[in-house]
Amino acid sequence: MKLNVGNLFKRKEAEGTVVVNLKDASSVTTKEETSQVSTDVSNNKNESEIIEETTTTCPKCKQVFSKQEIKDNLNVCVACGHHYVISADKRLRNLVDKGTFKPLKCKVAFTNPLEYPDYEDKILSLQEKTGLDEAVLAGTAKIDGYDAVVAVMSSKFLMGSMGIAVGEKITNAVEYADKKKLPLIIFTASGGARMQEGILSLMQMAKTSAAVEKFNNNGGLYISVLTHPTTGGVTASFATLGDITLAEPEALIGFAGPRVIEQTIGQKLPEGFQRSEFLQEHGFVDQIVPRDKMRETIAHILRLHSKRGK
Ligand SMILES: [Zn+2]
Repeated sequence: MKLNVGNLFKRKEAEGTVVVNLKDASSVTTKEETSQVSTDVSNNKNESEIIEETTTTCPKCKQVFSKQEIKDNLNVCVACGHHYVISADKRLRNLVDKGTFKPLKCKVAFTNPLEYPDYEDKILSLQEKTGLDEAVLAGTAKIDGYDAVVAVMSSKFLMGSMGIAVGEKITNAVEYADKKKLPLIIFTASGGARMQEGILSLMQMAKTSAAVEKFNNNGGLYISVLTHPTTGGVTASFATLGDITLAEPEALIGFAGPRVIEQTIGQKLPEGFQRSEFLQEHGFVDQIVPRDKMRETIAHILRLHSKRGK
């Protein structure tokens, strides 16, 4: 087995921004979005197939809604408030001031250190499907007029798993926030470390954590927002190192999954174990914020910590 460690330490151009404004929220459906809630109906389908394709049954309240209705409500159930998965792009559009997002320049070349079969093809097809180059999107933006560095993970890209590229993009975002003295906001969504990259993906835990510690020592403000699901190596590194930790309602947040824990300790786990509400009750989460209140909550925190106003 050949370990291609050399590439790990090759840092591409880590700073500077390139202007790629996100488009108007109302008119855009990204590739990532389309793959989840498609309302495209072809002509040669019978009525029940059409209904199935244009409607969704909420997994929580079991009521049936049109997919468009859910999409228009930030992918949140209009009856019970169940938070569906949302694309990184749509989340950003809901958070930042229109036209202010500028992706940080941080291109990480693809590596397959374990020569994992079909890994590159999988990445290429996900890039095509989601419109993302990796499982995290990072850049600078204004939120209610306040400048910030924002990184958003996508669970739709290989379960938001953290490999070399995700570790580098997160680290780059933290370092950029540190250098420019900007607040840092990271939305996590991850199945954990990326098994296809073996030990090198675990090393990203140390790398990102070290960057956050340096940022913290220099007085930076880091708001971590945990979304469904945040697990494994991401929970065990930068996701839980925020100065302020927010979470979306009922998100699964943990290290190992509940079934593994039950099997290990031989006990039944309490109701709601590893959900946002349970974690808030036990002091790991500061506030649970529904998606439609996320922008105003983060803007409020930024305002409280701002020295000079906007
Ligand atoms: Zn519902």
